[in-house]
Amino acid sequence: MRIDILTVVPELLESPLSHSIVGRAIAKGLVEIHVHNLRKYGIGPRRNVDDYSYGGDAGMVLMVEPVFKMIEELKAERSYDEVIYMSPDGEILTQGIANELSLKENIIILCGHYKGIDHRIREHLVTREISIGDYVVSGGEIPAAIVADSIVRLIPGALTDETSALSDSFQDDLLSPPIYTRPAEFNGWKVPDVLLSGNPKLIREWQDKQALERTAALRPNLLNKNI
Ligand code: SAH
Repeated sequence: MRIDILTVVPELLESPLSHSIVGRAIAKGLVEIHVHNLRKYGIGPRRNVDDYSYGGDAGMVLMVEPVFKMIEELKAERSYDEVIYMSPDGEILTQGIANELSLKENIIILCGHYKGIDHRIREHLVTREISIGDYVVSGGEIPAAIVADSIVRLIPGALTDETSALSDSFQDDLLSPPIYTRPAEFNGWKVPDVLLSGNPKLIREWQDKQALERTAALRPNLLNKNI
């Protein structure tokens, strides 16, 4: 799989994509992530990528041309399954969307900045718009890193124990049960006895029950989805 991220602040993406599970998946060759600076196709001697908005609203707007040219350059090399724009008014990212995107071959993720991007990019070049939630952050880079991370950890081989992605929250519309590690007792705080029982069937039953109870208590909307 290959992910191309288009941004005016590539530095913001360096660290989130270089370490831990995502960094290791890249090192293992399971995924290629290329970050492109839109300034490459900036306009004029100062390589401008943004301009004032028509109508005079405050805030700079990312121009069509640098984005168009960068996407054209990439599409000349390979075909893309999706051109995703990170946007607060897009569909809200879910585990289902991450699962779906993890099956794609090549995707482009476009990060907006400042006030946003010229709407013609959204009308003519973007195939899908994704939000990380109903709030506004300063740029699409952290949202893009979140989308990339949620996808990459699902690629077989990215997690050392492959089943661990399957038991994560949301995978079956259930929250994850509580987890513990050694010591079995700290400060008088005990790990539930059943987890120390060594009986896999009892442990599984307890985990299933906890997952259901926690979902009912904390996120009942997930249970109603299945009715
Ligand atoms: N004026 C825009 C917000 C611009 S914020 C509006 O009101 O909708 C600048 C950029 O940050 C956006 O172009 C987008 O790429 C990114 N961004 C901000 N909040 C986001 C969110 N919740 N999800 C995904 N991207 C977001």
